[in-house]
Amino acid sequence: MGSGITLSLLEQNLGVTMTQQNVVVSDLKSGINLTIPVKVPVSKPAPAPGSCITISRKTLLEINGNKINSWVDSMRASSPTHHKSTPPLSDDLTSWMVQHPSALDMFEQIISASKGKQIVMFLDYDGTLSPIVEDPDQAFMSDAMRATVRKLARYFPTAIVSGRCRDKVYSFVRLAELYYAGSHGMDIKGPSKGSKYKKGGQAVLFQAAIEFIPMIDEVYKTLQDATKSIKGVRLENNKFCASVHFRSVDEKKWGELAQQVRSVLKEYPKLRLTQGRKVFEIRPTIKWDKGKALEFLLESLGYANCTDVFPVYIGDDRTDEDAFKVLRERDQGFGILVSKIPKDTHASYSLQEPSEVMVFLRRLVGWKKLTLKRQFRIRRQIEEIKASLRN
Ligand SMILES: [Mg+2]
Repeated sequence: MGSGITLSLLEQNLGVTMTQQNVVVSDLKSGINLTIPVKVPVSKPAPAPGSCITISRKTLLEINGNKINSWVDSMRASSPTHHKSTPPLSDDLTSWMVQHPSALDMFEQIISASKGKQIVMFLDYDGTLSPIVEDPDQAFMSDAMRATVRKLARYFPTAIVSGRCRDKVYSFVRLAELYYAGSHGMDIKGPSKGSKYKKGGQAVLFQAAIEFIPMIDEVYKTLQDATKSIKGVRLENNKFCASVHFRSVDEKKWGELAQQVRSVLKEYPKLRLTQGRKVFEIRPTIKWDKGKALEFLLESLGYANCTDVFPVYIGDDRTDEDAFKVLRERDQGFGILVSKIPKDTHASYSLQEPSEVMVFLRRLVGWKKLTLKRQFRIRRQIEEIKASLRN
């Protein structure tokens, strides 16, 4: 693995073909894990795309010299502004699109694969239903998107799966007929039909890690103190996880921010750190993620061991990969990654941005409406034939 990281630094000079892999960096002292994307040569027996490799803290220090640098590299890799400043070569994008074609282009194939099965929809929120914005409190979804999701939920069981606190994501979506899995699925509630736009009152289906709530609250407050001198940091207490948004932090301050977060986390061996798009997330070290949430929801819907279910998961984030992976492993349905640039992913298809997600969802609704209409017409014709035979 060490040679993989070293080679990545020489990639441009040597012209070696590289592939990106996620590396989990384990800090043995503090117990903090951090997932960092690194490049490895394709000639090397590389792990499956998107899989994680664990390397020791000692090895990492030998490779990088400075651990904070690797944190900052990881922060850069997750930064959309960096994607903009270094657009991928069109050849890269073309070959990636061959492996992960547009879900819009493949719509007919997707529909035919779902034939005879119940489609169940799972939607991430930020970057999937709403655009990524500087202020996470302003990540509103459009009325058109809300209307689309409302129609979607009329025809398919639909769940929102987000890293955000469930109440927070509900305040953005405001559709009572959906399932909500907040805090990366650690906090799940079912729909409360008939009480649209009414906050609360829904049955809690599942709350993993409930005993961690006071600890998350404490770490949130400590982080507030530790990062108050860094301009642009936005903290969020998501009940089951604390988020440190650095979308508005000057890149020169990223090292300092990483240092502060690391020093706070050292005191909490039962918490771990993951990274999404311009956000650090501090979560309990329990085995629970969006993939587990997807499985839990399928079970709740009565599809635990069914072969006639077709789950579709749409998301843009690294944390969505756990759900994409579950679908691959179950060999059921498929994942759609929302991305304009090539990324290592377990998703089968891609969509470029939330506006394309909306078009895809509308086409699904349109197709289902048409199918139901046809079924209704056929049923009526059969009834008419039966009636004429009786007479
Ligand atoms: Mg997202």
